[in-house]
Amino acid sequence: MIVPNSGQSRCRSLAAAALVLGICPHPGVQGQVDALRRFEVEARENARGFEWLNWSSAHIGHRLTGSPQGVRAEEVADSLFRLCGLPRVSFHPFNAVAWSRGSVMLRLSDGTDTEHLAAVALAQTPDSADVEGELVDLGNGLAEHFARLKDRVAGRVVLMNIGLVEAPEGTGNLHRSEKAALAIRHGAIGIVFVNNVEGGVLLTGTASVDGAPIAVPAACIASEDGQRIRERLRADAPLRMGLRMTNRTGNVQARNVVAEVPGSDLAHEVVLVGGHLDSWDLATGATDNGLGAFSIVDMARAVVASGHRPRRTLRFVLFMGEEQGLLGSAAMVSDLQAAGELARVRCMINLDMTGDPFGFGVAGPEGWAATLDPLMDPIRDLDTAFRSTLREAAWLHSDHQPFLLAGIPVILPLCDLGGHVYGCYHSSCDDVHLVDPMDMVNNVRFVGALLLQLADAPTLPQVFTEAELGARLRAEGLEEKLRMAGLWRW
Ligand SMILES: [Zn+2]
Repeated sequence: MIVPNSGQSRCRSLAAAALVLGICPHPGVQGQVDALRRFEVEARENARGFEWLNWSSAHIGHRLTGSPQGVRAEEVADSLFRLCGLPRVSFHPFNAVAWSRGSVMLRLSDGTDTEHLAAVALAQTPDSADVEGELVDLGNGLAEHFARLKDRVAGRVVLMNIGLVEAPEGTGNLHRSEKAALAIRHGAIGIVFVNNVEGGVLLTGTASVDGAPIAVPAACIASEDGQRIRERLRADAPLRMGLRMTNRTGNVQARNVVAEVPGSDLAHEVVLVGGHLDSWDLATGATDNGLGAFSIVDMARAVVASGHRPRRTLRFVLFMGEEQGLLGSAAMVSDLQAAGELARVRCMINLDMTGDPFGFGVAGPEGWAATLDPLMDPIRDLDTAFRSTLREAAWLHSDHQPFLLAGIPVILPLCDLGGHVYGCYHSSCDDVHLVDPMDMVNNVRFVGALLLQLADAPTLPQVFTEAELGARLRAEGLEEKLRMAGLWRW
C-alpha cells in the first residue's frame, strides 16, 4: 500500500509545527518527516496488533490479574516485545490484593413468592456474605438521591442504576465504586446495580473506590429485571432482597510489562505510552483493553522497525491490576517516586478502550494544549479521518490517574467505539468480534505519530506544580470524587 498524501504537505505541516516549537526547520524537520513516513509505512503495511489480540483471545482467554491467564498474558506480552526487537524489556512486579469470583445468588421475595435473579458479583466484594433486607430504590444513586432518602438506607439493600436514567441534561454520573461508597456510608447492607444495557447483559467491575475490599455484597442485575422490580416497588409492594456470595481475595504478585526504546541526546527524558493488559473474567476483554494493549505492542514494533532513534526515551507500559483499582499504574508511580525517577517522565499517553482516535484530550499545565495542537497537523495529513480535535479535559478511573495525581501531564486519545462496544463494557460479550482491525492500525498510526513528535520536540512544557494541579482538578469537578477515594490533598 502506498502512503497517502504527498510528503510535501506533511513537510509543510511539520515545518509549521517546527516553527511553533521553535525548532530550526532544517535539516531536522526533513529527518522527522522521513521518520514519520517510515513509521507510517510500518504501521499500515506490517500491522500485527489485531492478529496478536485474536491469538490472545483464543489461546489465553481473559487476563484477570492474579489468575493463571493473567500471568500468561504478562509472559506473552514480554515475549512479543522481545520478538519485535525492543532493546530493553522488563517486568515491573508489584504486590496486589487480587479478587476473584466465586458464586453469587440473588433472591427477591415479596413475603409469599421468592424468585432468583440472574446476577454477577462486582469485584472487591466480600469473600463471604449472606444478607437480606428491604429493597430501597435509590434511582441513579447520586449524592442527591442519598440525601433525599438518607433515613431509609441503613440496614437495607439499595437498588441503583449504573448509568444515568432520565437525568436532567448536564447531570454528571458517579462511578459505580463511588455510588457503592455512598451506599456503605449510609449504612446499606447490600447493593444491587441495574445495568443500563438492554438484552440481559450483566456488568462486572470494581465496587471499591480505593482498591481495598468493601464490607458489603454488591452485584449487578439486568436492565429488564431492574425495570420489572421497579414497577413492583412503585405499586407499593414491599420487596426483600437476599444477596449471598463467595469470592476469593488474596495477595498475589502481578507484573507490569515495560519496553523501552532508548533516546539519543535527550535520553534522560521519557515519553510514556501505556494501557492496561488485564481484563475482567466474564469474557476475553478484547475491547477493554486488548484493543489498547496490543496496539501499544504493535506501536513499539513499528517504531523499532522504522529504524528511527528518538531523542527522548520511549517507554511502552502494559499495566496489570487496572480493573481491580489501578494497582499496577499506582505501584509504578510510587516506585518511580521512591527511586527519584518520576521527574524523568515528561508526559503519559493512556490507551484504554481506544480505537481509531480522532483527536486528543490533554490534562497538563499551561503550554501543553498549544504544544499538541500543531503536532496534530501531520497526523491529519496522513489521514483526514483524524479530525485533530483537541480537548482540555481530565477524568479519572484509568491508568493515567496515578500519573496525573503525581503532576505528570496526561494525554488521552479521543474516540468513539460505538454502542455495540460500549454495551459490552465489562460484560460477557466483550469479545474479539467487536474489534475492527483498522481501529488498531489507526491507534498505532495516530498515537504513534504523536509519540514520535513528542519524543523529538526540542523542548516540552513543564509538568504540573502542586498548586496548578489542585486548581485544575477542582476546575474539572473532580474534588468530590477524589475525596471519596481518599486522594484529595489540596
Ligand atoms: Zn479498561
